[in-house]
Amino acid sequence: MERAETLASRVAELEARRTEVFGRLERLEQERATALADLEAEAAKVGGGRADIVAGVGDDLAGLYEKIRTQSGGLAAAELRHRRCGGCRLELNNVDLDRIRRAAEDEVIRCEECRRIMIRTGESGL
Ligand SMILES: [Zn+2]
Repeated sequence: MERAETLASRVAELEARRTEVFGRLERLEQERATALADLEAEAAKVGGGRADIVAGVGDDLAGLYEKIRTQSGGLAAAELRHRRCGGCRLELNNVDLDRIRRAAEDEVIRCEECRRIMIRTGESGL
């Protein structure tokens, strides 16, 4: 009789624990669904902006960007900062810097070392 009471108590304890674990699982699944919905919304927002940019730069440059991105591990364009390519970190020599200085503002400049597109800014060191 005492053993039956002990077992009944243990069963009740395990059932309470199971209910608690299922409740926690349900909360975590809801958190996951919310986080996934947030990520999907963000991806749609970012993707929409990207489509506008691609339309603005034209198919040739967008195609070049995609080709470089595939070849270079996802980073197709990098800032030219303090005379260094932001992609491969190589410091450009004076000949290359001079060529970039004389290039038209809308000319696509690529790093001679890693072939990424270099973005010129006020801090490029030109
Ligand atoms: Zn580079």
